[in-house]
Amino acid sequence: MSVAELASARLDWAAAQLADCRLCPRQCRINRAAGERGFCGAGADAACFLHYVHYGEEAELAPSLSVFLTGCNLRCRFCHTAIERRERPAKPLTPELLRSIVQRGLAEGARNVSFHGGEPTVNLPALLRLFAALGGLPPIVWNSNLYCTSEAIEALRGLPAVYLADLKFGNPTCAERIAGAGDYWEVVRSCLRQVAEAEPGKLLVRHLVLPGHLDCCTRPALEWLAAELPAARVSLKTDYLVMPDARGDAQLGRFLTPEEAREAERLAAGLGIPLAAGPDFSSVRDAPPQGREPLEVEVVISPTGAVFLHHPTRDLTSVALAVTQRGKSEP
Ligand code: SF4
Repeated sequence: MSVAELASARLDWAAAQLADCRLCPRQCRINRAAGERGFCGAGADAACFLHYVHYGEEAELAPSLSVFLTGCNLRCRFCHTAIERRERPAKPLTPELLRSIVQRGLAEGARNVSFHGGEPTVNLPALLRLFAALGGLPPIVWNSNLYCTSEAIEALRGLPAVYLADLKFGNPTCAERIAGAGDYWEVVRSCLRQVAEAEPGKLLVRHLVLPGHLDCCTRPALEWLAAELPAARVSLKTDYLVMPDARGDAQLGRFLTPEEAREAERLAAGLGIPLAAGPDFSSVRDAPPQGREPLEVEVVISPTGAVFLHHPTRDLTSVALAVTQRGKSEP
């Protein structure tokens, strides 16, 4: 069955969820169709606050058309999109808007359309309606925290080409303190297992190494992945950025040290985890993107000298690549 046919067959389930929302462990049991909002703040329709062709995703995904939706059921203090989600005006994601975003993204060279949040799963009912209405979408990447129910995962089955799922923490205490979800460790491991069993070969798990959390989070997360999901590809992210909500925290308020990054990589290698390749910026196109909305470029230099570019332009990417390549070749 096509994505549109699969989505059409699940519209009754989607309507029932909206009328009495139990999509995730928050179990708000509110009527989103009648305008009520639960913990995630998502309404009956999806709303998009940002979209662009992303060259910084894992090599197997980039360039990827990233579509950012409002609504999230976690409260991670290091969230990259929390500020933009709060401050950027969001537009209702109608079939016409999604079609035009996808056409522009494909014209820019995107290989897939990736739904981000916030959290896309809290918008699943609306996205099922959009998928049913549109058809003919490029491969779908589901960039999710997987903090959801097994019914939600069942409703997703067959739709994404790739589940780009996070495993953020390695124990309940850190999950509660940092993201406000004490049941995270149990829930997300169960959802990861379910995806791995139901959709073999589609799971790419991201783990962002948090400063000061090697032993409590990175080690147990990697050990669990190696033991339970040996076939899943793992993307180990060592580019932690200090976001405003994390300032003042003894650990999250600082950058990762080079030693912490190396230790995380050593841990993964020691466990035999197959790591997914990081971004390949050779896919950045020479021609300027058509009709792309200007984004604020963010350049962050950490105390260790690491430079992070957020929303880089093509020219800035070229300069950064030239500088880093030169740095590698010099003693
Ligand atoms: S998806 Fe949102 S409204 Fe529904 S249960 Fe989860 S947090 Fe509550």
